[in-house]
Amino acid sequence: MITLQACQARDAADPLRGLRDLFSIAPGLIYLDGNSLGAMPKAAAARAAEVVTNEWGRDLIQSWNTAGWFSLPQRLGNRIAALIGAGPDQAVVTDTTSINLYKVLSAAMAIAKQDAPSRRVVVSERSNFPTDLYIAEGLCQAQGFTLKLVEPEEIAAAMNSDLAILMLTHVNYRTGAMHDMASVTAAAHAAGALVVWDLAHSAGAVPVDLLGAGADFAVGCSYKYLNGGPGAPAFLWVNPQHAERFWQPLSGWWGHAAPFAFTPDYQPAPGVTRYLCGTQPMVSLSLLACGLDGFDAAESLGGMAALRAKSLALTDLFIALVEERCQGFGIGLATPRDHSQRGSQVCLTREHAAGGSGAFAIVQALIARGVVGDFRAGDGGVHKDILRFGFTPLYIGFEDVWNAVEHLRLVLESAEWQRPEFNQKHAVT
Ligand SMILES: *Cc1c(COP(=O)(O)O)cnc(C)c1O
Repeated sequence: MITLQACQARDAADPLRGLRDLFSIAPGLIYLDGNSLGAMPKAAAARAAEVVTNEWGRDLIQSWNTAGWFSLPQRLGNRIAALIGAGPDQAVVTDTTSINLYKVLSAAMAIAKQDAPSRRVVVSERSNFPTDLYIAEGLCQAQGFTLKLVEPEEIAAAMNSDLAILMLTHVNYRTGAMHDMASVTAAAHAAGALVVWDLAHSAGAVPVDLLGAGADFAVGCSYKYLNGGPGAPAFLWVNPQHAERFWQPLSGWWGHAAPFAFTPDYQPAPGVTRYLCGTQPMVSLSLLACGLDGFDAAESLGGMAALRAKSLALTDLFIALVEERCQGFGIGLATPRDHSQRGSQVCLTREHAAGGSGAFAIVQALIARGVVGDFRAGDGGVHKDILRFGFTPLYIGFEDVWNAVEHLRLVLESAEWQRPEFNQKHAVT
């Protein structure tokens, strides 16, 4: 039996515990949705006021130079690079994950067309995040490739002589299952294909070693585990061996070699800077720095390795408590138990009789109790409805996990979730 007291003792002994104070989280709120929108670093409010009042309000256009606005995509890219196993000047922060995927997938297609023209298949997972699949579908149509969607266990068999590009999300947004980046990349390369990784649920959540894995391209969000703020620009990484082989198709002036020469023709900037397109949202970019400060603060406490160890301890505890305390309500586990295959989230399923899984309503009932997770609908087939809980080790503690499971138990036991107000859908789930 795991006790509340034991969980409290683990918090008291946790060297990372103090990092929670860097974040604004209402008392009593158990925020298990940092995988969707990270919590606000307290420093972000003052930083936003400074950017708006001083950098914009007072210094106006001079801030492009004096506040360093113009180089923010590169400077922030260098800070994220340190969290994903990339080198300096290999990553930029810009645009959205969807747009960045468009750029890198286009570049990968251009390389494939030149190096392996007979290969015309892009493979991804059917349960990949839809925007990745939509972007790939559109590009495949435009560029004469075929998009093939497979289940995770079919990926190895899809690495054949038709495969041009393997496009995977490292940690699956629905299940929290994590690929072995090094071995999958090596296998794809051995088969003659390029690999594009989406790190949306990896950056800041699990250690990533892009260079060690020899990956080709990567993209990812900064508003999830990196706590950059709603809609904060995304990041993009290109292996230096590919960076200068092609222009990316969104050849805007921020990616020009000399943007202020204002020449009528495009000359791509050296390196990853050519993956920029146009003017970036400076308020939003500036706030991302506050999110990254959290990782700097963690550095002296063991950095990503310590955060990963705590994340696994939190998700192990959540799984153990659910299995101990929520039996008999049809709750199942969609996330792998094996640490090497788990990201920083736990996803539950619910077996049910007629009338739906109840997963949506259970999540709503939990939110009403101050336990914020989210719901992801299944497809009525192999992919079940999911109750999704993200564990950001920077600000989630062991007592939070205990309390979250206790609320889940109460919601299930009382059938509170069947109340009509918990069964109404909203625009954003
Ligand atoms: C969250 C997420 C996105 C979001 O893309 P946006 O362009 O920021 O809306 C994309 N891909 C994956 C895998 C995600 O998890």
